[in-house]
Amino acid sequence: LPAIFEKAIPVIEQLEKAGYEAYFVGGSVRDMLLKKDISDVDIATSAFPAEVKALFKRTVDIGIEHGTVLVLWEDEEYEITTFRTESTYQDYRRPDEVTFVRSLEEDLKRRDFTINALAMTKEGAIIDLFSGVADLEKRLIRAVGLPQERFHEDALRMMRAVRFMSQLDFDLEPATAEAIAIHHELLTKIATERIQVELTKLLLGKARAKGLLQFIDSELYRYCPALSSAKESLIQFSQLMGIFPTKNIAWTAFLYYLEISENNVEAFLREWKSSKQEIRFIKLALKLLNARLTDAWSNRMLYDAGLPLALQIEELALVINPQLVPTVDLEEQYQRLAIKDKSELNITGDDLLKKMNVLPGKWLGDLLAELEQNVIDHQIINDQKLLLAWAIKHAHPKK
Ligand code: ATP
Ligand code: MG
Repeated sequence: LPAIFEKAIPVIEQLEKAGYEAYFVGGSVRDMLLKKDISDVDIATSAFPAEVKALFKRTVDIGIEHGTVLVLWEDEEYEITTFRTESTYQDYRRPDEVTFVRSLEEDLKRRDFTINALAMTKEGAIIDLFSGVADLEKRLIRAVGLPQERFHEDALRMMRAVRFMSQLDFDLEPATAEAIAIHHELLTKIATERIQVELTKLLLGKARAKGLLQFIDSELYRYCPALSSAKESLIQFSQLMGIFPTKNIAWTAFLYYLEISENNVEAFLREWKSSKQEIRFIKLALKLLNARLTDAWSNRMLYDAGLPLALQIEELALVINPQLVPTVDLEEQYQRLAIKDKSELNITGDDLLKKMNVLPGKWLGDLLAELEQNVIDHQIINDQKLLLAWAIKHAHPKK
């Protein structure tokens, strides 16, 4: 067994010693069989949450109503979830009530896809009640049970299907695909935040084109914020090559292909429930991308970007337009900047107010911005005396 599982064996043993069943489940078992890197292992058990808590010294209630207890063990954390069924699907969403059960089979039945419904004992024996291993070999995403019923219960699973296609480079089993084509409209019942999580994983997947084309063909895109009339742009976007390095760069490329203008970035991303920080970053990145696609890097662009973002934008610009001439010395050009941050400017607002003996006002910020721009453009040397002399000559403060 991979080390990450070995480390967790004492946790399973602790549960077994107390007479409960416990297994590794879900994504980690799938990813192990695919020989992919595993980030965290989840454990399912017949013990009820209170019983789990009684067995371990350090626990955190992270979702007790859904049966999940976080167990801190040595320097690791494990999500331990009680076997459960999800009986009451009110409105095509995640159920608000779950029923804890003592049977692994019941628990595996409620999982979304056969490849996600695998369990493994601490000895490494695979429990495969729905032919998940065969589907891993055939590289297929297949709903557990009747696909139409499963998407009707929880419409988010349709987005999960296309994101797993992208992450794993798998195809959709035909009946599963057909069920999505029938139920696509139910996606309107799902909170945007949850759709966004899945779309982001799709965008970051290695088989992005495959996931996106299914997202388009199945018409799921029609029920996503601000995408209902974007079919052509989405198709164009699906033809873009390369893997995105980060979530924000993925969304920057997405917005570029959707032809979202700088003025509309905020409204678009708000609809998608992006955070303020993400909006700020993507706005800047999109502006730099547009600039780089038409011009070489200016000092100002590099200064605004910082080196890591500049390198990412350079790479993205080149995959979007392979005809662009690559910037060979981007890093050197960056290192040659007179200043790399406002804090390196050798004068502050306070310095100016004191030395000029004037009152603060909007003019002060404008003046500092001008000084900054001139230093970046190598028009003024970043020296306090020279900056002050220039300021006195050019400022129009109120005395
Ligand atoms: P990732 O590597 O992205 O974490 P994962 O398979 O672990 O992939 P999670 O969202 O972490 O996905 O879910 C863990 C497991 O819970 C899944 O493997 C699946 O068995 C089950 N699951 C998650 N969401 C659903 C859902 N909406 N419907 C049914 N089962 C689900
Ligand atoms: Mg997971």
